Amino acid sequence: MENGTPIRILYMEDDPGLVRLFEKRMAKKGYLISIAPNGREGLRMFSEEGPFDMLLVDYQMPELNGLQVLEELMTIDPRPAVIMLTGAGNEEIAVESMKKGAYDYIQKDIDGRYFRLLPIVIEESVKRYRMEAEKRRMQQELKKYAQELERSNKELQQFAYVVSHDLKEPLHTIQGFAKYIEETYGEDLDEQGNEFLGYIIEGTQRMERLIEGLLEYSRVKFKGIKLKDIDSGALVDNVVKDLKATIDKRSAKVTYEALPTIRGNERQLNRLFQNLIDNAIKYCRDRKPQVHIRAEKQENAWQFSVQDNGIGIDPRYGEKIFAIFQRLHSKEFTGDGLGLAICKKIVENHRGEIWVKSRYGEGATFYFTIPDRVKHIS
Ligand code: ADP
Repeated sequence: MENGTPIRILYMEDDPGLVRLFEKRMAKKGYLISIAPNGREGLRMFSEEGPFDMLLVDYQMPELNGLQVLEELMTIDPRPAVIMLTGAGNEEIAVESMKKGAYDYIQKDIDGRYFRLLPIVIEESVKRYRMEAEKRRMQQELKKYAQELERSNKELQQFAYVVSHDLKEPLHTIQGFAKYIEETYGEDLDEQGNEFLGYIIEGTQRMERLIEGLLEYSRVKFKGIKLKDIDSGALVDNVVKDLKATIDKRSAKVTYEALPTIRGNERQLNRLFQNLIDNAIKYCRDRKPQVHIRAEKQENAWQFSVQDNGIGIDPRYGEKIFAIFQRLHSKEFTGDGLGLAICKKIVENHRGEIWVKSRYGEGATFYFTIPDRVKHIS
C-alpha cells in the first residue's frame, strides 16, 4: 500500500490448491498473509493473532460457512473489514453478505479476472477500513479531551466558589474591626493614622467587590441552565432601562437596529449585554458615548456587535482583556477586570465566540456569536 504499512490479511479458505495460487499471485504485492483452513480456526486466529487489516472469507467451507463466520465477526467491536469470496453465480450470497456487514464481495470465477480484481478490492477496502479506524481513534481522543476539559472546568469552578466563599468571612472580620477602630479610636489617631485606616477600609471594600465578582464568575454555570427563545431586542430594551442612571450621567446614546430572536439563557444574555454596554459607556474619555448594537445573520448563528466611540484598545491586548482580572486602564477607570471574563464564559456556554476589533483611540467593537441550534447546554 502507498502509505507504507503492509496490509495484514487473514484468508479463510479450505482449498489448499486455491491457497497456493493465492499466495503465489499475491506474493509480489507485499501483503502479510495468514491462512486459516476453516471458519472456526479463522475466528480463533482473528482473536489471538491479530490485528488484521482485512479478512478474506470463503463462502463455501465445511462446518461454518462464510455467512456464519461473517455473523460472528460482526458481533466484534470495532467491526473488522471482511471481503466475502463467493462462487461464480452466487449473487444472493453476495447480497446477503453485504447486508450482514461485509465490506465487499468478489466472485471466484476462473477466467482470470479474480486475481486481477482481488488486489484492487483489497486495497480499496483496506483504505476505507484504515480511514474508519483513524476516525474512530480521533473521535475517542476528542471524547477523552472533552471529558477531561469538563472535569477540570468543574474543578476550577468549585475551587473559585469555595475560595471566594471562604475569603468572605475573614474579610468581614477585618472590615468590622477596621470600622470599629475608626468609630471608637478615630479621634485618638493622628492624621496619618486615620489616612492609613482609610486605606485599609478602602482595600477591604475593593476586595469584597473582587470576591463578589469571582463568586459571580464561578456561578456562570455550564450545566443544567434553562434555554428558551429570547427576543434579543426586548432584552436589550431592558438592559438599557437598567443602565438608565449611567446613560443619563454620561449623556450617552445607545441605539440598536431590529434584533433577532435567539435561543439562550435569559439571565446570562442579559448580563452579557449589560457588561458590554456598560463598558462601552465607561471607556470613553471626553466625548459623549455613542453605542450601537446590531445583529447579522450568518449561516448557523447570529453575530452581534456592540460598537462604541470610546478610547479603543490596542490590538495587542485584544485577547488579554477577556481573561480574569486583566485590566488595561486600572488607574483611570474603576473596575474589577471580571466583566469581559464573564462575557466570554457566557458566550462560550452558548457555544459561541467573542472577540474585539479596535485600534487605540478609535473606539472598539465587540463581536459575539450565538449559534442557532444550542439545544441544551451540557
Ligand atoms: P473592568 O471593566 O471591570 O476593568 P472588564 O473585564 O469588563 O473589566 O474589562 C477588562 C479591560 O478591558 C478593561 O479594564 C479595559 O481596559 C478594557 N475594555 C473593556 N471594554 C472596553 C471598551 N469598550 N473600550 C476600551 N477598553 C475596554
